[in-house]
Amino acid sequence: MDAEQLREYGHQMVDFIADYYKNIESFPVCSQVQPGYLRELLPDSAPVRPESLQDVLDDVQLKILPGVTHWQSPDYFAYFPSNSSVAGFLGEMLSAGINMVGFSWITSPAATELEMIVLDWLAKALKLPDQFLSTGHGGGVIQGTASEAVLVVLLAARDQVLRRVGKDATGRLVVYCSDQTHSALQKACKIAGIYPENFRLLKTDSSTDYALSPESLSEAISRDIASGLIPFFFCATVGTTSSTAVDPLTELGKISNSNGLWFHIDAAYAGSACICPEFRHYIHGVEGANSFNMNAHKWFLTNFDCSALWVKDRSALIQSLSTNPEFLKNKASQDNKVVDYKDWQIPLGRRFRSLKLWMVLRLYGLENLQAYIRNHIELARKFEELVNLDSRFEVAAPRRFSLVCFRLVSAQNDAEHANQLNRELLEAVNSTGNLFISHTVLSDKYILRFAVGAPLTEERHVLEAWKTLQEKAALLLT
Ligand code: PLP
Repeated sequence: MDAEQLREYGHQMVDFIADYYKNIESFPVCSQVQPGYLRELLPDSAPVRPESLQDVLDDVQLKILPGVTHWQSPDYFAYFPSNSSVAGFLGEMLSAGINMVGFSWITSPAATELEMIVLDWLAKALKLPDQFLSTGHGGGVIQGTASEAVLVVLLAARDQVLRRVGKDATGRLVVYCSDQTHSALQKACKIAGIYPENFRLLKTDSSTDYALSPESLSEAISRDIASGLIPFFFCATVGTTSSTAVDPLTELGKISNSNGLWFHIDAAYAGSACICPEFRHYIHGVEGANSFNMNAHKWFLTNFDCSALWVKDRSALIQSLSTNPEFLKNKASQDNKVVDYKDWQIPLGRRFRSLKLWMVLRLYGLENLQAYIRNHIELARKFEELVNLDSRFEVAAPRRFSLVCFRLVSAQNDAEHANQLNRELLEAVNSTGNLFISHTVLSDKYILRFAVGAPLTEERHVLEAWKTLQEKAALLLT
């Protein structure tokens, strides 16, 4: 690493990125390229001689950016947001600059200790129970994604129950969640060796706004126990991916606890909102959980990746995931005085991700972060109001945070026709490049999702998006 070359190239790169942000609205939000487009534009093999940074940046401009979907565009309303910010970007930059691999405390004590402190800060901002703090038996850890978070707690829960009932019982272990739970849990079950027939996707419907009813969990557990199975893991969601439904944590937690299940809460998207006192009630009941997860990389101005996971009993994770080869042994670990995050996650190597979260918390402060969340929720409320004012549309599920689920209504009162109409509307608006929205299906209805949450989004972007939607709807309805 030549420090002076880094200085020169680094300035050039920051200029390039700053210009990208300045011009971000000039790109089609969703990339309009065809599959395989890039192979035609790039050579078949790597260059033998070095090329200049300028040549590479020219290629980025001409060949790469057309194939980028601009998640940071203010006209991005698809899926859920994946925020970047100046603080998050600078934290990433610093982490790349230091570039250490902090799997054990000794490999970079600051990395481990800052992660513990920053996750304690965030836990306090969310008013999580003290048992989730690193000062007791629990603590927080930054995983790459919510998928990794649910996998590691599932493994911890599986091994905990198998230690009690014996290893041969794997085929009798049962996992519960609702049919709105993110597919990350299903993938975790596949990896953890949970039998597919023991993965219970409990039904929800519009009568509970797609939240899981406690009766349904309780009945399923009783049935399984009666059949000789072993219920051991339940995942509730605060802010489901399709419609931001919120499972009733307190009641579900009681059922989980009284039946000895590990209770995990997935608040990947909506967790961020709970730093605002007026939205904190959505995680009432977290007291009963064994683990809680939110993605700071979604809606908390922290560049991807940064998924915060807290557990009440870190020893359960460590018992499942620790290894202790000779080549990693060191005095601090052996004296049991330190946290070695390698034992809380799947990979060995890990990045200094707490830097960016620390920078976000320090450079914005909780007050600004709360205002940021409130602004998006207010913009979503305005969009919902616009939908309600246009009789050709309907709001398709209650809005709680910054996602509006809506659809065009078919005058023909024909379910399949309405679904087709909305599929066509989605295609039509996304192909304009003016905005990008996504979809889901709820109760067999094809639903459009408008998720506000990109950091640069202002009211004018929401109004423009609505205009495009209305124009395309008018064309489809003629
Ligand atoms: N859980 C919920 C509720 C989500 O909405 C998502 C993604 O949008 C996930 C989990 C998976 O997130 P990740 O990509 O971090 O694994």
